[in-house]
Amino acid sequence: MLRRRQRAAGPSGAHAPRHGDVGEDRSLTPAETAVLERLRAVLDTTGLQAGLRTGHFGRATYRRDASFLNADPLAVALPQTIEQTAAVLRACREHGIPVTPRAAGTGLAGGATPTGEGGARPVVISVARMDRLRELDVANRRAWVEPGLVNARLGRAAAAHGLRFAPDPASQLAATLGGNVATNAGGIHVLTYGVMSQHVLAVELMDLEGEVHLLDGRAPEQGGLDLRGVSVGSEGTLGVVVGACLRLLPAPPAVGTLLAGFPSLEAAAATVAALVTSERLPDAIELMDARAIELVEGYAQAGYPQHAAAVLLIEYEGLPAGVTEGVATAARLAAEHGASEVIPAADAAQRARIWKGRKAVAGAIAKQAPDFYLQDVVVPRSRLGEMLDAVVAIGEREGLTILNVVHAGDGNLHPFVLFDRREPAMLERVFAAGHDIVATALRLDGTVTGEHGVGIEKRDFLGQVFDEDDLAVQKAVRDALEPTRLANPDKVLPTTVGCLEARMVPEGAWV
Ligand SMILES: Cc1cc2nc3c(=O)[nH]c(=O)nc-3n(C[C@H](O)[C@H](O)[C@H](O)COP(=O)(O)OP(=O)(O)OC[C@H]3O[C@@H](n4cnc5c(N)ncnc54)[C@H](O)[C@@H]3O)c2cc1C
Repeated sequence: MLRRRQRAAGPSGAHAPRHGDVGEDRSLTPAETAVLERLRAVLDTTGLQAGLRTGHFGRATYRRDASFLNADPLAVALPQTIEQTAAVLRACREHGIPVTPRAAGTGLAGGATPTGEGGARPVVISVARMDRLRELDVANRRAWVEPGLVNARLGRAAAAHGLRFAPDPASQLAATLGGNVATNAGGIHVLTYGVMSQHVLAVELMDLEGEVHLLDGRAPEQGGLDLRGVSVGSEGTLGVVVGACLRLLPAPPAVGTLLAGFPSLEAAAATVAALVTSERLPDAIELMDARAIELVEGYAQAGYPQHAAAVLLIEYEGLPAGVTEGVATAARLAAEHGASEVIPAADAAQRARIWKGRKAVAGAIAKQAPDFYLQDVVVPRSRLGEMLDAVVAIGEREGLTILNVVHAGDGNLHPFVLFDRREPAMLERVFAAGHDIVATALRLDGTVTGEHGVGIEKRDFLGQVFDEDDLAVQKAVRDALEPTRLANPDKVLPTTVGCLEARMVPEGAWV
């Protein structure tokens, strides 16, 4: 249900305006000057904890997310309250300045990169300081959170009451719940628990007038159109998520984990196909290839078989008897498909060690290569083997090291490209490989993102996922819900401004 809930208060706590911050290094339009004046009246501008950053160094950290797509924001606002957030949005709307919502900046598609249509410089509005767990409602198994609360912190708070928050992105130690809502994040246990959308009961969405709308889906059958659903995954294009009500589940009474090593990627992929059609669907199936195994073992000593061409990490949750049966089924299927090692986790410590390897991939890469580029595509599970072969071929053609980590149960591949951007023309080769990986997934009846979102990186591929009529409907919905077109305007839906390659300068910067 959409209903106007509260009108946040106007600007408060006036501060003496400051002009010409150190490093404020470009000329401003009259609208930009006016909006900065307004923001200085709302947000503290002094000290390390300043809520408004306009100087060169203050802005630099917010030029990009975890992708390589970067642009210079006009300013960075770090509101601590809903009233400050509303005042920032109102000021931007009144002066026609776009806003880029941002949280932890772990996004990989350039969603939090501050680009505006026609070269306009947005104000980045970071919700990172609004990070309270507002309410843990154990009786109703739900939690009200502020958008900047880190995913793992909710997990820990829920565990203390025998509950869990199921969406578990590999970035969960840093990524926020607001960011997870905005990107419709997934994770390792998507196979049975689904992505964020299945766990978001209500969203508090602030529009560009500073009004908060409760998009409520707490009742089992709410009636009307599901605007809550539209807001999940909208990547900041409909406004700023300032709160959310999230579903909590009972923690499973038993968990069983199995590690299996295979002599070939094909054997591992065939085992995945057998597992998902078996009598006991696992709750998680992760695949890692030989390069990933080698790298992780040198870093996290997770106990993965060193000479395997691929490993599967398979997990079952539920009542003890069902878990035991599931692990036995997985062990049998792995052996039937030629597994060289089948290692059930004997206890919680071994289970944690197995998962530590999977979650340490990005850290292990950081020790090996100065840069990595992480792709995110999906193919039907039956085409996983073909897709993995294609990724290997693309890496060989471009002379790039690519390692594969796959949420195999969902056919969601995450090829990591390792590189050093200081090498000449390197970024072009990396982006060419990324482009070909996405094009191959589309050719194999897959799609352009599994969980990282569309942002800018995948935006121009959407024309290959949806036809013109579908895109026109999506644009009409966006424009109806966010008529100012100032909320992250350059993201998700293709624009007429131009394609990604045309706008990228050699250093991978955006202008
Ligand atoms: C090593 C690594 C592993 C990862 N693993 C996973 C994974 O397993 N599963 C997965 O799904 N993702 C994964 N990601 C991607 C990323 O962590 C997710 O997309 C995450 O949901 C982003 O959260 P964030 O807080 O960092 O958001 P940001 O990166 O700050 O923002 C992401 C997008 O959401 C918008 N946004 C952020 N906050 C708000 C708000 N309050 N209101 C409106 N819009 C907002 C931004 O404009 C942007 O478009 C991984 C990233 C890395 C670097």
